[in-house]
Amino acid sequence: MIQTILERAVAAGRPAAERGAAASYIPELGKVDKRLLGACVFTRDGGRFSAGDTGVRFSIQSISKVISLAAALELCGFDTVFSQVGMEPSGEAFNSLVELEPTGSRPSNPMINSGAIAVDGYLEPKLSFAEMLSFTRKLCMDDGIVLDEAVYHSEMSHISRNRAIAYLLENQGVLQGDVERTLDFYVRMCSLSVTAESLAGLGLLLAEGGVSPATGERLLSPDTVRVVKTIMLTCGMYDGSGAFAVRVGLPSKSGVGGGILSVADRQHMGIGIFGPALDAKGNSIAGEA
Ligand code: GLN
Repeated sequence: MIQTILERAVAAGRPAAERGAAASYIPELGKVDKRLLGACVFTRDGGRFSAGDTGVRFSIQSISKVISLAAALELCGFDTVFSQVGMEPSGEAFNSLVELEPTGSRPSNPMINSGAIAVDGYLEPKLSFAEMLSFTRKLCMDDGIVLDEAVYHSEMSHISRNRAIAYLLENQGVLQGDVERTLDFYVRMCSLSVTAESLAGLGLLLAEGGVSPATGERLLSPDTVRVVKTIMLTCGMYDGSGAFAVRVGLPSKSGVGGGILSVADRQHMGIGIFGPALDAKGNSIAGEA
């Protein structure tokens, strides 16, 4: 049943890719075939359903913001994380600087670039990138996740806007750590290569309240999972979050690599989607369809 629905959904979504384009502001991402589309569902009882191009590795990009937020909540605590980052949808593009300009302002939420860079400012002094990579592999139940060096170097050579955000954050007193090291950490997390399956694995872990379906180990506290899912629902699809929440209603997070992570907790399911053609807001257009 799930398999049939998934295959129909992928077939129905494919034509929408024609109306979008792969991200090109990070040149390496622009090389991907925009017609790819794949979707996976993992269920609590061990069901793994896949349709379309689900074995293809792609760049996690902003979906890593979910992992950074979860790690920061676990390591630094709620009060620290939200002392400098808000919990409101921004209504601005994911890479916006406008709301940071007034003196004393702070990032609207941890799912946009400014908020995620601020969160990474807490994490970077506490965790090495290697530790974050191994944590990510556990959360996604995928040991094949690696740093995509080509994407990392491509993004690092086109980093001006995020660098501007990071220095503005430092100037506002939001980012207290080393700016360049924080940016490097942020870009490395964005450059991890995942599949739709890895995202379905992460979705299932969140649906299961933070306990790994693979090992039975608790990786995230129930409080962390509750906060992460709520922020995903309200802010996970950038300035398209409100409409997506009304139409789909599942906590979700997109990335400009074309991924969408969704959590269907009442059905005990994680959903992972890959479709690199993006709409104007930077969300996977065929994935949403
Ligand atoms: N690495 C990307 C950036 O900072 C992430 C953006 C995204 O996926 N929306 O611009």
